[in-house]
Amino acid sequence: IVEQVTNDMQMIHPDFTITLENELDGPAWVQFYRNHMEQVLIILIDNAVKYSRDRKEIHVSVGSSDTTVDLAVQDFGEGIAPKNQDRVFNRFYRVDKARSREKGGNGLGLSIAKQLIDGYHGTINVESVPGSGSIFRIALPMLTPEQAAEFQRRHDADKPAPLNPDDL
Ligand code: ATP
Repeated sequence: IVEQVTNDMQMIHPDFTITLENELDGPAWVQFYRNHMEQVLIILIDNAVKYSRDRKEIHVSVGSSDTTVDLAVQDFGEGIAPKNQDRVFNRFYRVDKARSREKGGNGLGLSIAKQLIDGYHGTINVESVPGSGSIFRIALPMLTPEQAAEFQRRHDADKPAPLNPDDL
């Protein structure tokens, strides 16, 4: 999913270099609706594009800790002042109202992203240095191997039974 969204966003913004780093060193299981995760990634990459300046580079990464699968979207744009870093997740909050309006923002994207991530008991936060850029980080709780096996079992049970050549 991350690869697909990254590729799509790269096509839409050919003047940017959008890279994807896979830091996973083995399988890691998380469960979510595909369109929810696509939506979150589109919001973060779209913002990274909107708030970049001269350095048109965006780094996306996927990794994991012991208990989470982690996503990060980094830009090298205008950044966010420390006092505003928590507020950007509030509905209708825009750091620079006049300029954000010029860029077509409503101040809704990050609040939607946070609601979706909260729904999966994950976390989303930002580290940012004004003038240097921002990193938005998402951590989603990883399924235990037992939960992953159970999910796979139920998923397989939903599939139609394979055709038996003897019945043809
Ligand atoms: P939209 O509703 O279309 O997403 P928006 O970008 O204004 O519009 P949010 O995505 O919620 O809304 O972002 C809120 C505010 O946070 C933005 O107006 C901007 O000031 C700031 N912001 C968000 N992402 C970044 C970023 N990558 N770099 C710098 N500022 C950002």
